[in-house]
Amino acid sequence: MKALMWTNPRQMGMTELETPLPREGEVRIRVRSVGICGSDLEGYLGHNSLRTPPLLMGHEISGVVEALGDSCKRLHEGDRVVVNPLISCGTCLSCIRGRSNLCVNRQIVGIHRPGGYAEYVTVPESCVYPIPDRLSFRSASLTEPLACALRAARRAFDSHSVPGVVVIGTGALGVLAAYVSRILGASKVILLDRNEKRIDNMKKLGFDHVIQAGSGDAVAQIRDAAGPRGVDIVIDAAGFQPTRELAVGILNAGGTVMNIGLGIDGTELPVNHLIRQEIEVKGSFCYTVQDFTDALELLSLEKIHERGWSRTEALEQGGECFASLTDGLVGESKIFLEP
Ligand SMILES: [Zn+2]
Ligand SMILES: [Zn+2]
Repeated sequence: MKALMWTNPRQMGMTELETPLPREGEVRIRVRSVGICGSDLEGYLGHNSLRTPPLLMGHEISGVVEALGDSCKRLHEGDRVVVNPLISCGTCLSCIRGRSNLCVNRQIVGIHRPGGYAEYVTVPESCVYPIPDRLSFRSASLTEPLACALRAARRAFDSHSVPGVVVIGTGALGVLAAYVSRILGASKVILLDRNEKRIDNMKKLGFDHVIQAGSGDAVAQIRDAAGPRGVDIVIDAAGFQPTRELAVGILNAGGTVMNIGLGIDGTELPVNHLIRQEIEVKGSFCYTVQDFTDALELLSLEKIHERGWSRTEALEQGGECFASLTDGLVGESKIFLEP
């Protein structure tokens, strides 16, 4: 089968691999759409400690069930499906407490086992969900990043009702977090980014408050857009010193910073300000099965779609896509590859 293999930092190319056989309890899926994730880009650059080359990445996968291993009972050949790439053990402390996303034994398709940048992928049948006929493979492959955004937004909305929301960064997670914030009842959603094409796209999609970072006084523009109710939640989908500082500085007393951007690790924050203003600083990682199936439901109902902020390329173009995405040259927030 054809596969797009990551072989070294900044090196990725097509190769020929043996088509995998499904083992007991596994199914083989003919991949129809696979999204390029920001975490794959970090991996590609060699910045992600979990990913070591050579590796077949790709965890935002939809396709058609093509072969079934022994003891598979639920799915059939020809089923249109999406893959939940996070495989949890079900028995560790986190799993028992309902936080399967934090499973200590977790395995992620495309990190710990071969992923979907290929014609075929094999995964446990238990991680595979049928999709409705009306849902395109492209939309379905948004389920995984949407599940991440949904969990993050929910955890931020926990402490607020009808909040003013700022989303920093309009990569795919930022865009999805903005959509979810609308659905969860934000009074306003204000977006902040540098990339002019992405800003343009978001305005065309009906987001009224899209502010260019680094142009004049972004903070004043956010305050102006937020109005008297101010900002109760900042979802930081970038994750750098200036964005984290901005987040803490712009919030109302009692506000919440939700961190989902993994830009840098160590960051200086004014903790006394957090104390005196009772500002919550939270993080959110991946998703539970409920987040995943809820995300699939939102896509199936067309509450969220990929049109106007994404594009699709052949798998063979993947190497070039990774290069231009990491160079910041892409105006779309998401690229889907089709093997
Ligand atoms: Zn992802
Ligand atoms: Zn576990």
